[in-house]
Formats: sequence, C-alpha cells, structure tokens
Amino acid sequence: MTLLHNSGFPRIGHKRELKFALERYWRGEDDLKKLEAVAARLRARHWQLQQDAGLDLLPANDFSLYDQILDNSLLLGATPSRFGDLSTLSHADAAFCVARGRDAQGNPVAAAEMTKWFDTNYHFIVPELQRGQTFSVSSNKLFDEVKEARRLGHLNIKPVLPGPLTWLWLSKAEGEAFNRLELLDDLVATYGDILQRLANLGVEWVQLDEPALALDLPTDWKQAYESAYSRLNAAPVKLLLATYFGPLQDNLHLAARLPVDGLHLDAVRAPGELALLADHLPAYKVLSAGIIDGRNIWRADLSQILDLLEPLQKRMGDRLWLAPSCSLLHVPVDLSSETELDTELKGWLAFAVQKLDELNLLRESLQADPGRRQQLLSDNHSAAQARRLSTRIHDPAVQERLGSLNAGMAQRRSHYRERRVQQIELPLFPTTTIGSFPQTAEIRQARRDYRLGRLDNAAYQQQMHSEIHKAVEIQEALGLDVLVHGEAERNDMVEYFGEQLQGFAFTRFGWVQSYGSRCVKPPVLFGDVSRPDPMTLSWTSYAQSLTDKPMKGMLTGPVTLLNWSFVRDDQPRALTCRQLALALRDEVLDLEQAGISIIQIDEAALREGLPLRQADWQEYLHWAVESFRIAASGVQDSTQIHTHMCYSEFNDVMPAIAAMDADVITIETSRSRMELLDAFRDFDYPAEIGPGVYDIHSANIPRQEDMLALLQKALERIPAERLWVNPDCGLKTRDWKEVKPALENMVAAAHRLRRQYQEKDRVSA
Ligand code: GLN
Ligand code: ZN
Repeated sequence: MTLLHNSGFPRIGHKRELKFALERYWRGEDDLKKLEAVAARLRARHWQLQQDAGLDLLPANDFSLYDQILDNSLLLGATPSRFGDLSTLSHADAAFCVARGRDAQGNPVAAAEMTKWFDTNYHFIVPELQRGQTFSVSSNKLFDEVKEARRLGHLNIKPVLPGPLTWLWLSKAEGEAFNRLELLDDLVATYGDILQRLANLGVEWVQLDEPALALDLPTDWKQAYESAYSRLNAAPVKLLLATYFGPLQDNLHLAARLPVDGLHLDAVRAPGELALLADHLPAYKVLSAGIIDGRNIWRADLSQILDLLEPLQKRMGDRLWLAPSCSLLHVPVDLSSETELDTELKGWLAFAVQKLDELNLLRESLQADPGRRQQLLSDNHSAAQARRLSTRIHDPAVQERLGSLNAGMAQRRSHYRERRVQQIELPLFPTTTIGSFPQTAEIRQARRDYRLGRLDNAAYQQQMHSEIHKAVEIQEALGLDVLVHGEAERNDMVEYFGEQLQGFAFTRFGWVQSYGSRCVKPPVLFGDVSRPDPMTLSWTSYAQSLTDKPMKGMLTGPVTLLNWSFVRDDQPRALTCRQLALALRDEVLDLEQAGISIIQIDEAALREGLPLRQADWQEYLHWAVESFRIAASGVQDSTQIHTHMCYSEFNDVMPAIAAMDADVITIETSRSRMELLDAFRDFDYPAEIGPGVYDIHSANIPRQEDMLALLQKALERIPAERLWVNPDCGLKTRDWKEVKPALENMVAAAHRLRRQYQEKDRVSA
C-alpha cells in the first residue's frame, strides 16, 4: 500500500500555546519544567493527530522550542565561543542564549544572526563556524524526542534533521575566511554518530532535509553531496533525502544518484520532475511525492493530482510515497478553529490538519476503482471548482483600472538629485525611527475591546489619539528629527492594510511561526484588490497636527503585502501585486494631499520573494520594483519617499533596489556590523541611506559609543550628506523602558557626529 508520511507539523499549537509558554518562561513567570510540559503536550497531540490521519511515518525532531537549525547546531556542538560553555545548560536554555543574546553566565552578548529560511517567512538562526573547528554529538534533544514518541506508542517514528550540506550551506564563516567544505569530513562523521544512535533506538527511517538541492550550487558543493552521502550510506538506518521549495533542475541527476533509500520531491513546485525521477531512480529507491501544498492554504484539487500520480503509481507501486510538499510549519494548524469565517471561503481552504486528510483521501482514491473514486472525490472536486467560478474574486472595476495602467505611472517626475533640493530640509545625519513604538498591554487591550465591540468608535479613537500624543511628545523630548505616529492602531503591518482592502479575508487562528515565539497571521488574498476608503490618513494627519516636526506617513508596500499573505493561485502573482500597488498609490496621494511630506513605504519582504534560482530573478524583480514604483510615483518631487527593508542582503539585488528610486532607504545592518553597506558603496547607491545602528530584536540597550562606531564605519561607505540615523526596524516588540534610553543614546550619537562634522567644516573653512 502507498505509504503516507509528513516532514513536519506546525509546533506553535492551534491556540499558540507554545508562544505563550515560551514568553511566560522568558519573563520568569514559569520554570523550565512547565515550559517543557507544554512542549511535550503539543508533541503528543500532534503525533496523535498525524497517527489518526492515517500517516504511516510520523516526523520527530520537527518540534523545536526556538528553531530547528539552531537545534541542529547544538546537536553538533557548533555554537560560537562568545556564548561561553553552553554544555552546562539544558538544550532549551542553550538555544535561548544563542537566539536571544546571552552567554552561559547570563551576560548580554550579540545574539546570533537570523535569516529567512529559503523563500518562506520563517527565520532560522545562522550557524557560525570557524576554521578548523570540530563537531561532536552534544545534545540529547533529538534522541529524547524519539524516545518520547516511542513511549507514547508511536513506533513508526521518522526523525527529521537538516542534512549536513544544507546546514553547512546555510552557515557562515566567522573570523578568518575559509572554505566551509573543509569542515565536511568531521561534520559527516558526526552525522554518522547521530545516525548510529538513532539506529540504536530502533529507528528505521531518518529524513535528511536537503532543500539546498533546489538552489544553484557551485560544483564543489555538488561534489560534496556525493562524497558526504556515500559515507552516510554506511549508517545502519534508511535515509530519505528530502528536497523542497523548488525543482531540482541541474541537481536532479545528482539527487537521483545519491546512495540513499528514498528521495522526496516538492511535486507542487516541480510537478514535471516527478516522472523524470521515476525514470532515473534506481529500482531499490522510494520516490516520495510531496504533492499536497505545504506553502499555501487552498484546498487541493485532488482529481488533478490523481491524473499526475496514477501513471507513476502504475510504474512504481509501493515505491511511491505521498506527503505534503514540505514541512507544514508554513501553514496554520487547523481550519476547524475558524468559526467566524464565512462558509463559502472556508470551503476553499485547507490548513495542516485538513492537508493530512487530503493526503489520506488521495491515497484512498488512488486505490479505488473509478466509480468509488468519483464518489470519494465529488466533494473535493466541487470545492476546487467553486473558488474559480465565484463572482467574489472578480471585480470588473479593478480589472479596468489595471488595463489603463501606463509606464508613466511607474516613474517619478524628476531624477533624485533634482527632487532632493525641493524636499524638506533636515540637519546632517537626520534621526528617525522605522515606524512602530511599543505595543503596550493597554494598546492591545484597546484594539481587542474595539474589535469585540466593547469600545465604541469615539472611545477607541480617543485612546489611539492619546497614544499618538504620547509618542509625539516622547519623540520631541528625545530630539528626533523625523517623527512617526507609532502605529498603535496596527496589530500587524500587513493585516492592518488587508483588513481595509477588498479582496482580503482574515482568519482568527491562522498563525504561522515567523521566528522564536513570534507568529504572523497572513491574510488570505483571495480576490481582486481595491481600496474603498483611506487607510492611514486620519491617524497620520492627527499626528502631524501635534507637531512642527515632519511626520512620516507609514505604509506597507505592495510586494510585502503580497509576500506576507496567502495569495490566490488562479492568476499570476505579478498581476495581484499590481492591483495592490494601485490601491496604495491612492493612499500615498491622499497623504501628500493632506500635507504629509515624507512617506515611507515598507518593503520588508521584497527580497524574500526572490525565486530560489537566479535565472528567475529578473522576472520577479522587474514586476516587484515596478509595483513599488506604481505605488510611490504619483507624488510631487517635493514629497520624500522612504522605503524600509529588514534582514535583506543587498549585494546581489542592488540594481533593483536602486531602481525602486526611493529618496531614502532604511535597512537592517547592526547585526552584520555594517558589512551590508559594502553593497551600497560598490554599487554607488544614488540616494540616502539609514543603516540601522542598533538591533531592535535584542533587549540590550545599545551604547552611544557602539552606535557612533557603527556610524563611523558607515561613513567610510556613505557620504555624510546621505547618511540617516535610525534603528534596524520597528520598535513594537520592545518596552518603552528599553526604547527611551536606546533612542536617547542614538540621538546623542547622531548629535556627536554632527558636532564632529561641523567642527571639521569650521577647521577646513
Ligand atoms: N513600519 C514597520 C514597523 O516599524 C516596519 C516593520 C518591518 O519592517 N518589519 O513596525
Ligand atoms: Zn524592518
């Protein structure tokens, strides 16, 4: 019989139990035992769910208290030396030290860098490796979880680990530069030890995740796959090599050839490669078809999938396995929690739990005779049809407006240099923030009360106004140059806009882990997009009315709205993005009309939308940049357009970033100690830059001298008249008692630099 398995289940819990337990622990309200108990309950529930859904192999080690890549670094004993001797701590505490910036003694140190997991919105902790370092099995977490599953009666456990090459590929060299492949021998030996220990626990199958095989790999890395896996082959377990997030393309033959017992392919992103692999896999190998979409929330069209699978199954028989395309970490847990979603829309969706049911139904249908199959699939078939045909997704007015789009609409009136002189005059090294201020308990309470109807419109507005008032007062006292209103009214930078746009729907519990305890609830972008009313105008105008300093308008850009939503799959993403751009363009013009002279359009997610393969970049960047420009370019020259991006590496997309033609760009840089700025120097970026001078993800108060040093470093690369001073990102996750001293130090650093420059000017004059 066709075997069903899964690469990972969302660990956060359908009511975000893990998030709340983590945060209670971090606040010191619970002890580790309590946290571990919540974690164990979640694992038990998730295993049971998967067992009940008919899965034959259940994933283990897909659970993590923080991040699975960090877990793997701890397993291998590969943690940076600045954290001290972490072996004295529990796995959980060691992970929290690295992720949250504490050494083994509890002293603040720089947290490890975090970056996006392939093209998802999940962030992992980047392993840092040093020349000549060695590895050894250094954590029991993996083995404990296997034992725990077996104790619960799940003997069909398949531990899942990041494969050695993907883990190594995602790491970065610290200190002396070196070729990380030098470490491979020892790394593979340690993986050998791990596999041996799993075998000793009675494990039959181990899944090694190698999504790096969906990337453009240099030749030496391809060769490294061959040598690593021919050594791992000796381990006394069966290996399932899992690739996902994209087609294998030039790595297909390599992947097919590696001496493992099975190969998993993302058949949603690479349907065409299924049959190719069936041709090329040696007869002893399993082909696991990742056929249920682990990256989106639409119900699968099972009859369509069956057409693809049937011929394969005829050829391969039981050697064909079925699974979701990738770990279900990237989708919400359970649709049945959604009691407020209208039934039509709900009928179009499938979350993790429902996806497992789809898998089961798929297998049943695959084995059924034609009559029975039709019966089994009738409900699924009509659901898939219903969405495509629904009038709710088509808006003729939006389509007409799209049709009248012309190239001039994506073009500012003048070049940056001509615009600059017409724009607002600011001191040298202007200081600003990225938009949001601490989201206090009162703010969240007010939004909740308003949503539940416990607070009426007037009372809610009054409270938001008083929050804005407070934020303005604080910023004026701090001496910031460009103010923000603080985003108190926004639960989330995407949801806030989605809620006011046509074409979006919202779930109550559709949470997906972003990093650590942080989750996002991506909107469901199901239909044509339009803006019935202004979305930010009244808050921004009110804020501006309180101060003579410039108030920065604050919008989320079209590409970010797209990339952080679950997006309809019935039309190209480029088209959907253009609809978003037109809606935002109207908002930008409304702000300008109301006298807002600086408008920031956040594109935090522009880079993460990049296709995994370089050959596909141009096309994406073309429409993404064009969409930003459609949103931004309606304004007069005198309006200064900012954009903000976090966690971006710019080196390889510099021309596109410059082509966005923003007057000012603020970026994340402090964690990488300004290394990022080389890109801006090498490319000769034409406009102004605010490289973040402190890491808002850490609770540590940045010191004035450190920020000054970073600014000085930035000045080696950016001309003084184009340098802005700001934090790395928005401050909504911080407390005022952290934010005030941090910004005080930041403003002091900027002022000191300003004085140094004025001094220099006097001396040279
Ligand atoms: N303006 C947003 C904020 O300050 C930007 C957040 C982000 O870039 N992720 O919160
Ligand atoms: Zn940011």
